[in-house]
Amino acid sequence: MPHTDILGFENTSGLYAATDKSEFLDHKWQDKNSVFRIDQLEAALGNVAPESFVNEMREGLKKVGMSIRLNPYILDLIDWRNAESDPIRRQFLPMLSELEEDHPCTSVDSLDERKTSPAPNLIHRYPDKVLFLVTSVCPVYCQYCTRSYAVGQATESLQKDTVTSASGWLAALNYIRSNPSIEDVVVSGGDIARLKPANIKLIGHALLDIEHVRRIRFATKSVSVQPMKFLSDDPWYEAINEVAQRGRSLFKSVFVHTHFNHPREVTPLVEKAMRRLFSDGIHVRNQAVLLRGVNDNPSTMIELIKKLSAVNIQPYYVYSCDMVMGTEHFRVPVSDMQMLEREVRGATAGFNTPLFIVDTPGGGGKRDVHSFEYQNSKFGATGYRSPSVDRNRMYFYFDPLRTLDPAARAEWRAPGGRDAILARLPSVLPTAKPSVMAAE
Ligand code: SF4
Repeated sequence: MPHTDILGFENTSGLYAATDKSEFLDHKWQDKNSVFRIDQLEAALGNVAPESFVNEMREGLKKVGMSIRLNPYILDLIDWRNAESDPIRRQFLPMLSELEEDHPCTSVDSLDERKTSPAPNLIHRYPDKVLFLVTSVCPVYCQYCTRSYAVGQATESLQKDTVTSASGWLAALNYIRSNPSIEDVVVSGGDIARLKPANIKLIGHALLDIEHVRRIRFATKSVSVQPMKFLSDDPWYEAINEVAQRGRSLFKSVFVHTHFNHPREVTPLVEKAMRRLFSDGIHVRNQAVLLRGVNDNPSTMIELIKKLSAVNIQPYYVYSCDMVMGTEHFRVPVSDMQMLEREVRGATAGFNTPLFIVDTPGGGGKRDVHSFEYQNSKFGATGYRSPSVDRNRMYFYFDPLRTLDPAARAEWRAPGGRDAILARLPSVLPTAKPSVMAAE
């Protein structure tokens, strides 16, 4: 059967047409039938994708930092008749022909998370907030993942950092306990969909027991990529619900943060999962990533926001794609992001209008895309200040090289070019007034 009532459209590729609906809706069946290797993908696709297409993906995977992991639900959400341009395929399966040479300022840990890690599994950048990384596994792997230095399996091009461990959790909890300034904890990874219910309770209750922790955010992409997890894994769902209800009794908030990028991902099954969360009073916020060829036009972005709002997911953030290895083809210039923000604002209620955010390379944190204080259009450099992190430093995001004129592109690529260009940018601006340095 074509699963139209699950996906919201009839996928004529018929990949799972013979699969029993109750099996398809079982999170365990989804995990068991997930693909991690190209030969598994080839077997799952059968005749649906031509051999040349699979070869493109095989070669693409050799160049990127993220391994693959896809479940049948996501494979079924891809329109295989138009796979090359399909916005779902593009997020999870790289094709060699679409990859672009990395920008010279790309790194494996663009946000410098490892430099702000005071305890294992913990990132502490903002005074009152920490990011607690509890696992390095997710139900699916996104090719643009900012944490590709640790998440997923090693690829031919990138070895991964040590994975998180339960002993690391205790050290992280001790750090949070001994720092009264920490009010806000994001429990992420990886994805809490991969945590056992007992560990969700252990971490959730331990955090609620700390008096100064006022807010917990459980981060999981499973609302988007494995919604049946909320409907068929009762012990896991009830673990989240138990922590959320206890949080409410303590006047502390326990929210779920998730990650949708394209309106087609908001399926009838997502609505069912959201009805359960909503009826239990659990709030869900979305953090999208702006991705070229996926959601980088006003009509797609507005449709995404409206569809999320319709299922009571708050469209909270749209991030720029981080400057991590293998993501150059996904990135768009800052000016495109500003244009999108202008188009989106006013299309719906303000509380459902996301903030468009540049998470500045080097660890400056999240800045409103319009709040830049320096721009160099020739070299595609946009500078942001971040006083709560370091008021004496300017943090730069760089436009993709494809969007610059050929001479500037050549300067970036020349030997020593990167350092010469960076030396010409201001390290800090004495005034908070925006300044625009036109093309030199
Ligand atoms: S779900 Fe999040 S952490 Fe996991 S691969 Fe995707 S972006 Fe990375």
